[in-house]
Amino acid sequence: MPLTSWPLGKRFAFTVFDDPDAQMEKDSRLVYGLLSDLGFRTTKGVWPIEGSSERNSPGDTLENTSYRKHCQELLAAGFDLGFHNAAPASAVREEVGQALDRYKEYFGRYPHTMANHYNEDAMYWGSSRFDPPWRWVYQVLTRGTMHNKHFGHVDGHPSFWGDMCRERIRSCRNFVFQEIDTLSVCPQMPYWDPHRPYVNEWFASADGANWETFEQTLSEANQDRLAESGGACIIYTHFGHRFVRDDGTLQPRFVALMRRLAGLGGWFIPVNELLDHLRPAQGPHELTSRERRGLERHWLAQKLFRGTS
Ligand SMILES: [Zn+2]
Repeated sequence: MPLTSWPLGKRFAFTVFDDPDAQMEKDSRLVYGLLSDLGFRTTKGVWPIEGSSERNSPGDTLENTSYRKHCQELLAAGFDLGFHNAAPASAVREEVGQALDRYKEYFGRYPHTMANHYNEDAMYWGSSRFDPPWRWVYQVLTRGTMHNKHFGHVDGHPSFWGDMCRERIRSCRNFVFQEIDTLSVCPQMPYWDPHRPYVNEWFASADGANWETFEQTLSEANQDRLAESGGACIIYTHFGHRFVRDDGTLQPRFVALMRRLAGLGGWFIPVNELLDHLRPAQGPHELTSRERRGLERHWLAQKLFRGTS
């Protein structure tokens, strides 16, 4: 018996959080054209502004008016738009505030969900995702990289915006796991972590970071496993990472896998709608120390073997 029952007699739940790194409008239109035709309604990450510091990633932002219109059309069609920090560049507090205001101006409200980009203004990112002792393990593993320079939650730092995050955004992504059934490895979600109080609640994801890992995670066998378990998958991906081939067409296997999944009787809704369904009436589950250690340990073990984000 599945642990959770889904609306409309659906067998399982499936959604995507799409990270906008390296994604240009042309490719986005192709990918979302397919998802929309097949009946998927998912969450697409956006950057509201270009930012004033040096870019750290390619990809369109909402300052491109034609791309913005495309995003507005997706929202009107039932997709959701997640926040991917202010810009593809590190931002200071004033810019983050401006980016959230822009988001609201374009879409009529603040974002429901967010996922961090590797900016200095990222929230509880890098080693701050963990409590000791795993924090120290992570610091050793990522020595010399950008992974420990994130300050969105550090009161007094120029990139601090924790108070705005708490006031304006409901849910934030943290751990990503290999398993297709995200709910089976993180049954606590959405959860509140008292050690990270500027984020109202957290959710986990399944690893689909680029086309190759997405293909593995959404294999036919895994799709069947998800449908049979009656679970929920939130796959975290970058549709800008090789889902469109050099000749400007979609990977045929991507089309085939999504078409197959669409026929399995799942509930296909944006991340926020899934979390709304899972959240108890009294609010998100409060994570215990034991549960936190379990999630951290599981994530780090997979990180060592596969490099899950
Ligand atoms: Zn990113």
